[in-house]
Amino acid sequence: MKRLTAVLLATVILFCTAGCAHRTEQPARFRVVTSFYPLYIMALNITDGVSGVQVDNMAGQQTGCLHDYQLQSQDMKNIEQADVFVINGAGMESFMNKVTSQLPKLRVINSSDGIPLLKDQTGEANPHIWVSITNAIRQVTNIAEGLAEADPANAAAYRKNAEEYVAKLSILRKKMHEELSGISNRDIITFHEAFPYFAEEFGLNIVKVVNREPDSQPSARELAQTIKLVRGSGIKTIFAEPQYPKSAANIIAKESGAAVYSLDPAVTGENRKDAYLTAMENNLTVLKQALK
Ligand SMILES: [Zn+2]
Repeated sequence: MKRLTAVLLATVILFCTAGCAHRTEQPARFRVVTSFYPLYIMALNITDGVSGVQVDNMAGQQTGCLHDYQLQSQDMKNIEQADVFVINGAGMESFMNKVTSQLPKLRVINSSDGIPLLKDQTGEANPHIWVSITNAIRQVTNIAEGLAEADPANAAAYRKNAEEYVAKLSILRKKMHEELSGISNRDIITFHEAFPYFAEEFGLNIVKVVNREPDSQPSARELAQTIKLVRGSGIKTIFAEPQYPKSAANIIAKESGAAVYSLDPAVTGENRKDAYLTAMENNLTVLKQALK
């Protein structure tokens, strides 16, 4: 019986190490809510091992970008109970301005502070800043500073974690620059305006973005135009995203003879601290294969 209890206890501990890494047994002393996935992964890294901190992700791990996000009543509760609300900024959460302005005590950390913004096709700021590793590093530093101010007792821990994570990001960025430097074919077609910052960072040339809104389908006219463009330009690869259906990409590929590859803007995924690093490593592999 004792043995059974020990086994059960071990199982519970094991289970909780895997599944509740960012939660504490005690009620949280300090609650951090992030708006969506990329910020959540950053916050997991920055708060790693700091006791009494709970990190929750408002939009959930599989929502993707917040372009069409509808606030749920549970989101309101989460934010009301938060000590800190971490946002991407650059317009990604502008639909929430009303909510946050009604909570004067809520600290909002805008991770985009100081990041130069690119305009999208409509002339608005493109919010997909985190897809550039350089920007992600700036965001991590901004969030760590914000958390250090809001929870000064743990400021040193947040800064140390951020430094360690930034070091990993910097190594990956260097590796990507090195391994992509020899690629001569730099023209890409994508399906969502998630990649301009990434393309700028690694010297890729986005010839066309087929869908501005990721969940809308391109019109027949746009499909035909894109097929013509691909045929005429000699572009051999188009990049879809794992988050969205590949049907349009497949049609264009079939009609133009191009191949479809998947580039990940790291906007959905698992509760893993290394999720962004892994997504970017995979992007490197895909780019080397697709653009050789
Ligand atoms: Zn997006």
